[in-house]
Amino acid sequence: MKNNLIQGIAIGNQVRFYLFDSTNLVIELQEINKLSVMATNIVGKSATITAMMAQMIKGEQKLSSTIDTNSSVGKIICTTRAPGKIKCSVTNPNLELKFSGNKLDLPEVIGTGRLSVVKDLGLKRPFVSEVELVAKDIVGDFTYYFANSEQIPTAISSGVHVDKSGKVMQAGGLMIQLLPGAEAKTIDYIEKIMLELNSLTKLLAEYSLQRIIEKLFGEDFQVLKEMTIKYECDCNYKRFENGLKMLSVDDLIELKQEQEIEVQCQFCLKKYQIKTSEL
Ligand SMILES: [Zn+2]
Repeated sequence: MKNNLIQGIAIGNQVRFYLFDSTNLVIELQEINKLSVMATNIVGKSATITAMMAQMIKGEQKLSSTIDTNSSVGKIICTTRAPGKIKCSVTNPNLELKFSGNKLDLPEVIGTGRLSVVKDLGLKRPFVSEVELVAKDIVGDFTYYFANSEQIPTAISSGVHVDKSGKVMQAGGLMIQLLPGAEAKTIDYIEKIMLELNSLTKLLAEYSLQRIIEKLFGEDFQVLKEMTIKYECDCNYKRFENGLKMLSVDDLIELKQEQEIEVQCQFCLKKYQIKTSEL
């Protein structure tokens, strides 16, 4: 598979950027998690941004984001594993379309809630940080997370474009972070390009990632890393069997009245028949 995420630095090393063509990821996400068009938009953006964020931590470390809403969306969880793997789950994959004008009305559907980010950096305890959902449109909420929890000014764009039949045509994300010492005019420039960048998915349909970066920064950039991000769940029979073994004795006695019990992975929806004789 072709590399679909590029990261680098630009504007005289004053900014760091991540550009991700997440089309294939969101297609798989829609298929595996059986997502409606509305859910594809919301979960697709969460997955795209979470995958870019995971590039900010090292090697075998893990990052996950949870958007916990009080609405019918329920919870959206996106979890990454190195190198370049992500899986997602959503409580309600059947969200109905809601429009505000000719745009999807994400705030109406998402409602109130919280965004939390967990980074497992291999230390004793994972690093957990949480913010209120303010924009309620995923992109604005992650932007607020960076400003509030990480104190890193970060501009984020993400889009999911589906055709009339609900098929994902393009999906992608761009993150630009100011590095320490960035000049005021650089900040103005980033604000300007984010405004002009009203349709990232249109750009992705027309140009390669390299070409989009040239359009943004001219020749003043350096690519540091290119990689492939894909949807992959790490569930297996043993993991669910071990999970059941952790249940209380009473619960186990009850389970053992059946020959086997069916469990389903919340991420990839795969079903496992666990033999209770082995518990
Ligand atoms: Zn799974």
